Amino acid sequence: MTEIPVSAAANISNTPSLTDLSQRDKPWDKHRSNADKVSNYYAGSEFQEYSHRINDCSELLDFRLVPDADEGLMKLKLNSAKFCRVRHCPVCQWRRSLMWKAKAYKILPKIFVEYPTYRWLFVTLTVHNCQIRDLRKTLDWMHESFKRFTRLKDFPAIGWLKSTEVTRGKDGSAHPHFHCLFMVQPSYFGKNYLKQAEWVKLWKRCLRIDYNPVLDVQAIKKGNSPASLIPELLKYCTKESDLTVDREWFLELTRQLHKARTIASGGVLKDFLKDLEKEPEDLIGKDDEGEELVDEGHLYFGWKRREKKYKLID
Ligand SMILES: [Zn+2]
Repeated sequence: MTEIPVSAAANISNTPSLTDLSQRDKPWDKHRSNADKVSNYYAGSEFQEYSHRINDCSELLDFRLVPDADEGLMKLKLNSAKFCRVRHCPVCQWRRSLMWKAKAYKILPKIFVEYPTYRWLFVTLTVHNCQIRDLRKTLDWMHESFKRFTRLKDFPAIGWLKSTEVTRGKDGSAHPHFHCLFMVQPSYFGKNYLKQAEWVKLWKRCLRIDYNPVLDVQAIKKGNSPASLIPELLKYCTKESDLTVDREWFLELTRQLHKARTIASGGVLKDFLKDLEKEPEDLIGKDDEGEELVDEGHLYFGWKRREKKYKLID
């Protein structure tokens, strides 16, 4: 009774995977597999509910077959899936980041039209690592310090986008830092120019500390768009490889980052970028290409936990 007929067994192993059929959908397996790890971390903790929700996240993917304009063939386009929207779900944070990036690429050209001569700086602001249990306190202090920074007479940006990243130190500490995009007056590169050491001095003053914080400033070449920086700015708050190292660290990260905001904008960019501060409603990417609604059929893929792969469902 329990024996599987040979032909059926062969069928199971020959079932094409999502990756077999669509190379560009390769990331799904990795993110969904990490979601299983994270769901296991939450199991038996005070976040049991997250464990269930992540477990059920995107178990079934419905793709439409649509003509591929570049290759002249067909490609798969996600049509529907159920997302859990738990903050640290690896699948959901990946989707969120994709949606934010798509939105940002659309908005940037509008900013250029309005501020054609302005220049862009990519600035990374850091402080010393802290204990993971002190993360919230440390972030509150950093956000306060950033506010002071933007109010300084010498603060050169008239608009900014700031994203918070927390990485895991090898010793289990937390390394919170800000990635910022600053829009500055063209005169910044003349009389208002700030040397690296002056940036450090200002950030130090706002933090009210006695050491020199590590700070990196890169200028985008004149006439160039900061679009290349968007992936760095709008990535996940904590990368998946850091989420899946240590259960205790991860649970504490969840407690410490509860309801913490990770993307913020200000100054003249606020009106353009404030949408990025919100959870995207759509995690599917319905309107990202404005493509015609040609529907050549659907393919469904189910998550196979043991194989760590999405496989085609008949
Ligand atoms: Zn999810």
